Amino acid sequence: MNQSGVPPTEVDLTKPESTVMEEGTTSWEGAESKYRELKEEAQRWVDRYNHLGSLKYVLPPCECRHAIHQPRERAAEYGRFAGGFHNGCPNGCIYCFLKLGPSAGTLGGSVAKLKKCFKSEAHAIEIYFKELFGGNGGTIREEIRKHGIFFTFTSDPGLPETFPLNAAVISETVKLGVPVLFLTKMTDWTDSEIGRDLLSIPEAKENFTIGFTLTGRDDLEPKASPNKERIAVLRRLHDEGFKTFTSIEPVIDCKLSFSIIKECLGFVDLFKVGLEFQRKYDQDVVKKFVDDLAALPEKPWIYLKDSIINLIGRERGAYGDNFVDAYFRP
Ligand code: SF4
Repeated sequence: MNQSGVPPTEVDLTKPESTVMEEGTTSWEGAESKYRELKEEAQRWVDRYNHLGSLKYVLPPCECRHAIHQPRERAAEYGRFAGGFHNGCPNGCIYCFLKLGPSAGTLGGSVAKLKKCFKSEAHAIEIYFKELFGGNGGTIREEIRKHGIFFTFTSDPGLPETFPLNAAVISETVKLGVPVLFLTKMTDWTDSEIGRDLLSIPEAKENFTIGFTLTGRDDLEPKASPNKERIAVLRRLHDEGFKTFTSIEPVIDCKLSFSIIKECLGFVDLFKVGLEFQRKYDQDVVKKFVDDLAALPEKPWIYLKDSIINLIGRERGAYGDNFVDAYFRP
C-alpha cells in the first residue's frame, strides 16, 4: 500500500521472477484454500522456532532477507519495520510512487507478484519467521515486538492476490504478541473467510491495527474500493473493537481531507497526514488546514508527516499534545 511520497523498498533484481501469481488473478476464488495451506506452513515455522529457542539454535546464513526490513526516509514515518512479499498492484492509483523512477518496471507493475527473492510462498514464510525470530532462535527481536511491523509498501496487502499470504503470517505474528499495522485501500478482505478468520483471533484486537488510505478521490484510485466503503468499514471494525487508523496521504485538496477527517472522528484512532511527493502546495492553504485540525474540539491523535512540517515550518508539538510522533500507536 504505497503512498505518494513513500519510496520503494529494496528489490533483488538478480533472480528470476516468481510466477506464483498468475497475471490477471484478482478474484477470491481459491484464496481460502491457499490461505489454509499457508497458515499451516506459518504455524510450523513458529512452532519450530519456539521449540529451538531453548536450544540456542543459530540460523544458517540466509541469502535472502527481504521479508522484514527497516524502511528508509518517508516510508520510515509509517513504521520502523515493514513486512511484505509482493511487488506490483492493480489498483491503478494515479499518484502511486511505485510507478516513478528507475525501478518502476519492477515495482510499479499492475499485477501483484511474489518478490523475486522468494522461490515460493512457503519460502517467503520461512524467511519471514527467520527474520522475525532474529536469527538466534526462539527470541523475537525485542525492537520488532516493541515497534511492530507495517504491511506493506510495495503492493496493497488486502488484494485477493496478496491477502492469503499476508494473513497467514499476520495471524501468527499477532498471536506472538507482535503488533501489526495494516494499510490498504481494499475492503473485500474484511468479509472474506480469510479476513473473518484473521479478525476472530483474540489477540487481533490488541495487536492488529487496521488502516485505510482516504484521499476522497475515487477517480484517482480507479480499481480500489470506494472511499465511502473504506470509511464504512473503518466504522464497523472500530465498533467491533479493533484499533483503526487512516492515511490521509496524499492530500489532494486540503478542504476535502479536512472534511474526511471530520467525518471519521469517533471511529478512527489515529490520522497520518502527508502531502504528495514533489507536488507544489500553497503554504498558506496547508497552514490553515493544520490550524483547522488543531482547532478540532475532539483532539484526535494526528501525525503530521515531515512533508507538512517542512512546508509550514512549525514543530508538531506547537499544535498540541494530540499531535504525536511517527511511532505513536493508538
Ligand atoms: S494501492 Fe496500489 S496502486 Fe495505489 S498507491 Fe498503493 S501500491 Fe500504488
